Amino acid sequence: MTMLKVDALSVSYGQVCAVNGISFSVKEGDLVSLIGANGAGKTTLLKAVMGALVADSGDVSLAGVALGRAPVEERVRRGMYLVPEKRSLFNSMTVQDNLELGTYANRKGLHFAEELKRIYKLFPILDERKAQLAGTLSGGQQQMVAIGRALIARPKVLLLDEPSIGLAPLVVQQIMDVIVEHKRQEGLTVVLVEQNARLALRAADRAYLIEIGKVIKEGTGNELANDQQLSEIYLGSG
Ligand code: ATP
Repeated sequence: MTMLKVDALSVSYGQVCAVNGISFSVKEGDLVSLIGANGAGKTTLLKAVMGALVADSGDVSLAGVALGRAPVEERVRRGMYLVPEKRSLFNSMTVQDNLELGTYANRKGLHFAEELKRIYKLFPILDERKAQLAGTLSGGQQQMVAIGRALIARPKVLLLDEPSIGLAPLVVQQIMDVIVEHKRQEGLTVVLVEQNARLALRAADRAYLIEIGKVIKEGTGNELANDQQLSEIYLGSG
């Protein structure tokens, strides 16, 4: 089943067209990576999918339902959740209080204590740091809180904006392992926006290369990873 369908979406900032008729779709339980250089329009695209920016034209459907101009809250209610690049944690609140915010979007009415146990099992360091203020955590730990909070919301579709940015490779791997595990075990559908093309293609069932607001290549993660032209530009010579 197609879980998320983005159809000819265009978004502008005044005269600047940042997303120019982008279409892609994601099957239930798949991970789709959107890769491309800085400024290609990836963040704008995710924000428009989430309803945080109003598109000029095009549409987004979730589980077959066209969302039109539905606001962010409605998209969250229907099972979409965005972890933004800046993570948007409350720095002067504890780790645990930040995680609790995910329960407001939890669609299954699960018990917070159970959810917390689950997240602390995924990221044991957060259990150790649960009483610490989020603003005093390392970047990697903050990203774990942001992702933990999202997983507590039990979304159908998780949108991740550059989760690897500024983080050590080991932490990035740990975070990606958790995401891929959720995909496998819970059928979570994921859209991953990444400048780190190597990482994004390794995890991807399908991937789309975006340049100046348009999709210029698409294929399986493997196909794009083996694409000569793409690998010269985005994967370096290694
Ligand atoms: P990055 O990895 O740097 O976030 P990106 O691929 O996510 O890049 P966007 O941030 O979506 O790209 O930016 C796409 C284009 O829109 C760029 O030309 C950018 O300068 C422009 N842009 C982004 N945000 C705004 C804004 N708030 N106002 C005006 N122009 C913007």
